[in-house]
Amino acid sequence: MEFQCPHCKSLVSKVMTLSSNTIWATFYSDGRQIWPHLPSDDGSLFICSACNEYLRRSDLRKPSFIAKTIKSNKHYLDNLKLEDYIKILSTDHITDPWKEFHIRKRILWMFNDRIRKVTWIIQAFMQSEEERQVWNKNLERLLEIYQTTPWPNNDQEELEKIYLAQAEILRESKRFDECVSVLDTVENEKFDKVKEKLRKACEEQNPYVIAI
Ligand SMILES: [Zn+2]
Repeated sequence: MEFQCPHCKSLVSKVMTLSSNTIWATFYSDGRQIWPHLPSDDGSLFICSACNEYLRRSDLRKPSFIAKTIKSNKHYLDNLKLEDYIKILSTDHITDPWKEFHIRKRILWMFNDRIRKVTWIIQAFMQSEEERQVWNKNLERLLEIYQTTPWPNNDQEELEKIYLAQAEILRESKRFDECVSVLDTVENEKFDKVKEKLRKACEEQNPYVIAI
């Protein structure tokens, strides 16, 4: 699929996975869904190979007629890597809590991908002391954001999804007792199966992401 970069106006191509078929998807405790047979595409953020600017999925526009007629070099949109997300947090001054939340959620997922083994590269969960610090800080901030953000227009079910997400961050932070206390506040029977899995993982003192 071709798009036009809003920054440098280059034509950029990107393989999009637009399938909405979730029947075969695997759902994970950190909120990530993985579709088998499709490239893993968590890509709400991309980097333009022509100008190195970051783009959100919602920034992507169909190319204008003029852009289509310009014969340009082949540029492409790349999914950001873990290092890119960490770099954005350390170099950009991010004041928008939603943007910070979005980036931190992806950092969480990308670390956890090492456990999910979505790639063929076998990696240690933590590769350095620096990574461990990034991981710990990330969990801390995500929890803070979950606890202090006024979530808009939430009905009880949506609110309980946020409690489940908080419980998961507590579990991944090895705060198992607190995780169970938060799980106890979730009442909707719809979430019983997820609660049971998280509770069992807490009993086993397992802080790693699990399929649910
Ligand atoms: Zn560009």
